[in-house]
Amino acid sequence: MELIRIPRIMHDTAGGHLLHGRSIGFVPTMGALHEGHLSLVRRAKMENDITVVSIFVNPMQFGPAEDLDKYPIDMDGDTEKLRREEVDILFMPDASHIYPKGFSTHIEVEKLSDRLCGAFRPGHFRGVATVVAKLFNIVRPTRAYFGQKDFQQAVIIKKMVKDLDMAIDAVICPTMRENDGLAMSSRNSYLNARERKAAAVISKCLIQTTELIKSGIIDIESIRRFMKEKLSEEPLIAEIEYASVYSPETLDELDRVEKGALLAVALKIGKTRLIDNMLVESQNKIAGR
Ligand code: AMP
Repeated sequence: MELIRIPRIMHDTAGGHLLHGRSIGFVPTMGALHEGHLSLVRRAKMENDITVVSIFVNPMQFGPAEDLDKYPIDMDGDTEKLRREEVDILFMPDASHIYPKGFSTHIEVEKLSDRLCGAFRPGHFRGVATVVAKLFNIVRPTRAYFGQKDFQQAVIIKKMVKDLDMAIDAVICPTMRENDGLAMSSRNSYLNARERKAAAVISKCLIQTTELIKSGIIDIESIRRFMKEKLSEEPLIAEIEYASVYSPETLDELDRVEKGALLAVALKIGKTRLIDNMLVESQNKIAGR
């Protein structure tokens, strides 16, 4: 595995591969790698000639009161995991190379970035879209891989790719989960033992709500009440930011679930913010649709 730290070198190395007709699969991450990340790496390896993984904790996507300073870092562990997966290139730039002095260009994907997490993390998706656009220009991928775990992020990247005519296939991959259903996340390491146990309530709530919708309950009021009640059964939940049903395309909250819908939750357990989602197909499609 080649370790590259300088954007220009990454750009030129990618150029060499492209010139030889090799496809490049790219997995952007913030490190502290787990099986969720590695599932994206395996998919990228399967579908491309060359696989590039980036590790960059992007300061631009963290708010002033967020966890940038204590975001988990495990460089040795990450390098070893990627080596074992036989990744071709690990791109690990310094913030000073990504955002040199005087940097002043940003990518803003309107509307989609204000919904769901965007309402609670102002500027977050602007930071995500900006860094991903930069990484795309540097790594020059044929395909890039994102987890459904961060569904809003993936939808925003797909929209950016379309709106800006980027010749990149952005692929959304399934969420990897722990045995009790908790979506894998680097932030799970912040949870103490009691909080970790309590966190299983999120995926349980999503599964039970899926069943509720499949049983024919499709109005938003009933669904939202059900989700809040389920989550509130867990006393360690400090705050529910959102728990409802949304259009997977526009991310607008739905009045009724009549076709495919996104169930999404963001909440805090102690000080740790966790998100999860599931896609659901209603059985109650309106006749003729
Ligand atoms: P992060 O390092 O948290 O920025 O995540 C890097 C990529 O891994 C993003 O596309 C995430 O959506 C994806 N990812 C994170 N957790 C999971 C998971 N549990 N299953 C699948 N993909 C994931």
